[in-house]
Amino acid sequence: MKRISVTSLLYWCPLHLDYLDQFPLETTGAADQIGSAVHDLIYRMLSGDGTGFFDTEEDVAWSVFLEKFPGAQVGPLARQVIDELLAVAKAAKRIAETLPLVAYEEKFEHNFGFENVKVVGIADAMGENVLLDWKTGSFPTDSHRQQVKVYATMLWRLGKLRLPASLSVVYLGTVPKGDEPLVRTFTIDESEAVTVESFVQRFLSDYLSNPAKPRISDHCLFCPYGRWCKRTVRDSDRGSAVRQLWEMQEKAYLLQKQIAPGFTEGIHVMEEFIVEKKGDYLRVRRKW
Ligand code: SF4
Repeated sequence: MKRISVTSLLYWCPLHLDYLDQFPLETTGAADQIGSAVHDLIYRMLSGDGTGFFDTEEDVAWSVFLEKFPGAQVGPLARQVIDELLAVAKAAKRIAETLPLVAYEEKFEHNFGFENVKVVGIADAMGENVLLDWKTGSFPTDSHRQQVKVYATMLWRLGKLRLPASLSVVYLGTVPKGDEPLVRTFTIDESEAVTVESFVQRFLSDYLSNPAKPRISDHCLFCPYGRWCKRTVRDSDRGSAVRQLWEMQEKAYLLQKQIAPGFTEGIHVMEEFIVEKKGDYLRVRRKW
């Protein structure tokens, strides 16, 4: 039985799923750790789960912090992180309180009609016909929209969400900069859910009959399997187009390496370009 998370599915790359199957990676970068702490704190503040009778929100934040960062010491630097966690979670709570939410961190799985596959997801917060997804970044991408639409389709088929539904992605990365969260809201109705479902079914069917097939796309820039994939693509005889693409990407990567030191980690919005720096990767896009 293959278990595939929706976030892995969104690479839409069979080879990525094969790597994940045979070689799962736990990403433990600081951004992931903070992201996990933020999700946990929001969950505890909204659901009341794990909160003792006398616990304040600050107590809960410290408890999450010490759990997520084992070995952390109480001090001024830790205080900074606690303040950030609390500000972000309180902003999320303000938004949640305006919506008819009934469940938090709802885990679900659906097989899209395949016997040997389970696609799994976690809805951060949901109500009868509303779904919320928290993001700790501040930059909307198309993958986020796809993610909530796949979630909504699965939840609808499972009888947990009524359609049409309102789907919001809440970008909390704006809060530490002193701004309110950025909210992107989409809707989905039954006919769109059927389209999403057929798309996922076609992809899964292709994946199951053609595993280890690379699909080069923008997602490759953030794929943790990129360093091995390059070799796999090169070693295998999959046609020159794919190899050419990789070669072009390698050249672009060398160029990026030359300009990358000028940028710090994160997203830089410039007059004409948006520059995204993540680890060794630098992605430059035109703004318009
Ligand atoms: S780098 Fe791209 S092609 Fe290779 S496994 Fe990752 S997503 Fe697929």
